[in-house]
Amino acid sequence: MDALHAKYPFFEGAREAVAGASVSLPTLVAEDAPAVERARERVERALLEGTVEPEGGAFTGADGPVEIRSELLSYPIARILVSLLDSEPAIEKYAAAEAATALDRLRADLDADDGLRSTPTPRVGLDDALDEFGLGDDVRAEPARGSRDPSHYWVAVGPYLRFTSPSWGASWRLVNRALADGAVRVSREELLEVLGTAIEARVREGLPFELDADEGIAADLESRVAELKRLLSERTYTGPIDVVAPALFPPCMTNLIEKAERDVTLTAPESFALMAFLVGIGMTPDEVVAFCADTSLDAEGIRYQTEYLRDDRGTQYPPPTCETLANYGICHNEDDHMRVAPDPLSYYETRVEEADEVVDWRDEHGVGDGDGDDTDEDEPSGGESRSEQVGGEQVSGEQVSGEEPDPTAN
Ligand code: SF4
Repeated sequence: MDALHAKYPFFEGAREAVAGASVSLPTLVAEDAPAVERARERVERALLEGTVEPEGGAFTGADGPVEIRSELLSYPIARILVSLLDSEPAIEKYAAAEAATALDRLRADLDADDGLRSTPTPRVGLDDALDEFGLGDDVRAEPARGSRDPSHYWVAVGPYLRFTSPSWGASWRLVNRALADGAVRVSREELLEVLGTAIEARVREGLPFELDADEGIAADLESRVAELKRLLSERTYTGPIDVVAPALFPPCMTNLIEKAERDVTLTAPESFALMAFLVGIGMTPDEVVAFCADTSLDAEGIRYQTEYLRDDRGTQYPPPTCETLANYGICHNEDDHMRVAPDPLSYYETRVEEADEVVDWRDEHGVGDGDGDDTDEDEPSGGESRSEQVGGEQVSGEQVSGEEPDPTAN
């Protein structure tokens, strides 16, 4: 099996490789092959850490044939596992983690291609990646004077609108973009974000599979699914801390706020991380809009993103972990405080608990009701576990009967 397929298992070629290989996924699962444990790790890391890279280090494709085979086959098994969790938020988070990991790998491939560093591992080029999603004819590079590599590209309006969202910030709106001959100008990093959406949609496609819990592959995976559900339920989250004390925010969030205050546009991951944090500390969409009033973030985008992040039980998505934020270059691990907490929210909670006196920004500025709760006073708020945040109440173990999926699909 091809290392490139293992690196990008959602590529059409990878799917064909799995379908054409002399392996049967039900047999692999029944025999508890290494790909099954790697699939469980894949889903666990996706839901809890926002990445599907192996715990022991990023998969580069430089491994031996056994590891390559296991990495590739773990993908279709992971898709079955996440289907068995029976949770829409879990599927969305899984797809987002696959896309984030794939983008990291793609960036590494492109850096290697640029000659910035050499690697003996197989890699894809930008054109290959665009072709994979039918974007080859929709994207053209802007000639770069004095440089081998273009810094900007032009994306046809149709795909641009399909793979971007106004919720990413004002700079993504068409009115704020250079537009010529039916194409929109984007930077290279923005083009990768567009590709990320295409990858996420590809992974999301066809999920969840309909499976009969008592039969075949689903029955054989029962203990793995139970293990994942138990892990998720153990990740208790004490609910929104419900105090807005900017002086106690972790450096990553302070840096993002200061960047936005300088009127610099945040990237999609930066904006997502900040919104997830603010919602995670109990702020309502209105409060977040007020809090970000003098920044590059616009009210409409904030509302879209925060309402997506929030549900009537509190935050549905935990903020990304420190590890994920470090991968995006958002975390600089000041004073090595990654040792203190695994994610910015936990770090903030620790600081609030340790503070002698905390004044809520909302009280100081007369914003909101100061309790971060849109609901009636008597309604319960927050207090959900991380498993509920990730899986919601839909993580019930109830299964849907139906045909066995095509496990190689996407
Ligand atoms: S270690 Fe965590 S909390 Fe601290 S700056 Fe990095 S991401 Fe933020």
